[in-house]
Amino acid sequence: MNCRKIIKLISDYIDREIEEVKREMIEEHIKICKKCESILNTTEKTIKLSKVIYKNKKVPKRLEKILYYQIRIRYKK
Ligand SMILES: [Zn+2]
Repeated sequence: MNCRKIIKLISDYIDREIEEVKREMIEEHIKICKKCESILNTTEKTIKLSKVIYKNKKVPKRLEKILYYQIRIRYKK
């Protein structure tokens, strides 16, 4: 699985809305790919932080989409 596909799956992975098989693929991939590992960590932190800001209320889907979009752009190259 290439990095581009992993990045697309990261949001689902963090939301735990992902099939077991795909989750394992991501976990295998980040073991060998530092780039995706750091993307995952950054994304997770950002999402967690935004949840704190929203005081554990559900983060608006729109905000989440914007975050993921920015992350995707940042790591596109
Ligand atoms: Zn990768």
